[in-house]
Parts: sequence; C-alpha cells; structure tokens
Amino acid sequence: MPARVTVVGGGVLALLTAVECVLDGHRVTVVAEGPGPDAGAGRAGPNRILRALHPADPGATAAALRAHHRWIELEDLLLTRFYERVGALTVLPPAAAAAGAALLRTAGGTARELTAAGLSARYPHLNATGGLGAVLEEEAGVLLAGRALAACTGWLRWQRDVELVEHRAVTAVDAGSGTVRLADGRVLHGDAVLLAAGPRSRKLLPPEVAGRATLYRQSFLHCRVPRQQARAWAATPAVALATTGAVRLVPPVAGAGLRLTSAAARRVVDGITDHTTGAHWQRVLEREFADVLPGFGPAWVTAAEDAYSTDFTPDGGPPTAELGAAGYACAADGGRSFGLAPLLARSLADRLTGPAAPSAAPVPQFAPTG
Ligand SMILES: Cc1cc2nc3c(=O)[nH]c(=O)nc-3n(C[C@H](O)[C@H](O)[C@H](O)COP(=O)(O)OP(=O)(O)OC[C@H]3O[C@@H](n4cnc5c(N)ncnc54)[C@H](O)[C@@H]3O)c2cc1C
Repeated sequence: MPARVTVVGGGVLALLTAVECVLDGHRVTVVAEGPGPDAGAGRAGPNRILRALHPADPGATAAALRAHHRWIELEDLLLTRFYERVGALTVLPPAAAAAGAALLRTAGGTARELTAAGLSARYPHLNATGGLGAVLEEEAGVLLAGRALAACTGWLRWQRDVELVEHRAVTAVDAGSGTVRLADGRVLHGDAVLLAAGPRSRKLLPPEVAGRATLYRQSFLHCRVPRQQARAWAATPAVALATTGAVRLVPPVAGAGLRLTSAAARRVVDGITDHTTGAHWQRVLEREFADVLPGFGPAWVTAAEDAYSTDFTPDGGPPTAELGAAGYACAADGGRSFGLAPLLARSLADRLTGPAAPSAAPVPQFAPTG
C-alpha cells in the first residue's frame, strides 16, 4: 500500500529521501522554502568532500564506502555526473596511516599508503612536516553539490506521484497527525513527515528534541591558488589533516576555487543570524593554513563565509530523531552529512514508509565530531 510522505526541505537529505520513497512506489510531497535544489542552504560552498576512511572507526568507514557506491549508482539513475573522483588524502602519523590503510582495505576499499617522503614528493605544495604519513583513496573525491541537487529535483519533477511545492516556508509540523502547515495557510496531510530543513529545523522541532540539537557556526575561506601552482592543484585530492583537528581542503574542482576550513573555526552558537565572517575568525583560518600551505597568505583569499550546522549527537550516534509515531528529523551535520546522505535517505525512507522491519537499512552512526 503506497504511503503519502511529506518531506520538508530542499537540501540533500530531503531530496534524496524523496527519491528513495518514490523508487519504493510511495507518493511524496516536497516543500522547500527556496527553489527545489538548494546546495547553498547550508552555505558550505558548492562542493563537498566524500572520503571513506574514518581512522580507527570501522563502522563509519564501511558506511562511507557504501555511500560512495550509492552516489555512483545515483549518477546513473539521475543521468548526471556530479562525483569528481579526484581522490581523498588523509594525513596521519605514520603508524595511524598504516592502520588506516589496513582498515580501508578490510572494509573493501582501496588505499595507497604514503610515507612522509612520498607525501612531500607528490604534493610539494602541501606542508606535511613532522614525518607524517598519509592514506590516499584514489576512488574518493568531491561531490558537486549543486549539480547533484539539481539532478534530484529534475528527476523528481518527472515522477507521477511527486508534488514539489517550492518557495513556501513550513511554519509548523505535527508528526503525530502527519500534518504540515505552510506559511500561506495551506495544510498538508500525509502518513509520515520528514523534517529536513537543515539547521533551521530547530524552530520546527518539539522543544524536547530541539533541546538536544546543538547549533554550530563555522567559517571557511574561498581561495584562488597562485598561477604557478595551478597544475599541482589540478592534481590534488581532497585533503583531511587528521593530525591537527579537522582541517579540510576542498581542491579547486569544476570551476570552483580552493575551499579551506577547520574545526578551529567552528563554534557553538545560540541562533542563526548572518553569514559574514568576522576578522577574528578569518585570521584564525589564515594562521592555521599558513602552516599547511607554503606561501599561503591573505592574498589567496577571495571570500570568507560562515555556514551553520546542527548535531543531535556531539558524542556520536545516529544523526536522526524520531518525532512521534510517523515522523523523523535529521541533523545537518557539519562535516559528513552530504557524503553520507544516500545512506541516511535510504534508512529514513524505510522508517517513514513502514514499520522499522529488521531488514530496514540501519541509520549510519556518526563518530564524535572533531
Ligand atoms: C562549513 C561546512 C563544510 C561542510 N563540508 C562537508 C563536506 O565536505 N562533506 C560532507 O559530506 N558534508 C559537509 N558538510 C555538511 C553538509 O553540507 C550538510 O550537513 C548538508 O548539506 C545538510 O543537508 P540538509 O539537507 O540536512 O540541510 P540543508 O542543506 O541545510 O537544507 C535545508 C533545506 O531546508 C529548507 N528550509 C529551511 N527552513 C525551511 C522551512 N521552514 N520550510 C521549508 N523549507 C525550509 C532550506 O531552504 C533548504 O532547502 C559541511 C557543512 C558545513 C557547515
């Protein structure tokens, strides 16, 4: 028996859950405040890193590998290429690099282990001093978020049992009765509701669930690499420095610039205000990346921006919350949700459209953020 599912949001979790529900034969209404595909919703730049290796975490590594394969299937389903497999490099102390490569191979992935000498020979424009090693995942890389979401929306528009309600804000969600109220007064009724409105979901959540959601603000820098390094950067994978906290470099891909961010520029805040990066936070990032990128300085920076994310489980666990008998909310986690979204979407579709059968896809667990 087909279910009627209402999905609130126009980001990756809303759209991919809608796709999964439709593939299972259900009727879906998607309500988004903006236009359907909304890669800018979280304002984290146009591209996202997808890497499988989560050092010392076999569960998260296996989940990220499954997500990688599902993104490739989605490219075929949606008839669009949006996964640039430029590779992903995780820089670690040498012993951790050996363990990480073994972990990835055991999970079924491929890994190339790089020594400190190999790392600096291959990427002289990255300053990995201190005898560090690395794991290179040649099949991982960067998701072109806007293109992926546009492909989802285009596909959904052609499906018979889908209604896309765009440019309409949701003002209230009652998951118990399956009711969603829109700003224009319209009320939608369904069998199940997914609240996937990103960081702004908090104001639509029941207080006891909203109280568990931590809101973060994170600064990042858009950069133009020096002309003489352009060729080197064109062959640079996405980079995660696991040695200095969560430092992330999204390489220049598909016309976008280099994007830099770090856990050092992430802080807990009370509410969503503007997206302007203050001078203090820009300097925090500039100092951090001066140690990572030889020659880096303010002249590289073309723009700085702040983005918001939420987390139900800063200490690890599923990034979802049950809302009554027939509703779920998902957190817009700050570092991994986009890459893992196909798995989250699959498990949410199973839960929204039927009793959580033992065969239902498990909700991926997130390791503590850091
Ligand atoms: C700085 C930063 C870097 C990141 N880097 C990565 C990365 O490299 N890899 C990765 O996997 N993940 C990364 N992420 C995380 C990832 O981008 C987000 O977690 C993910 O995009 C969240 O998707 P979402 O669908 O939950 O929410 P969003 O993308 O925030 O979408 C929410 C949607 O809900 C809509 N909406 C809001 N309120 C309402 C309302 N009242 N009514 C109707 N619609 C509404 C919005 O318009 C929007 O369409 C990063 C996040 C940040 C902040």
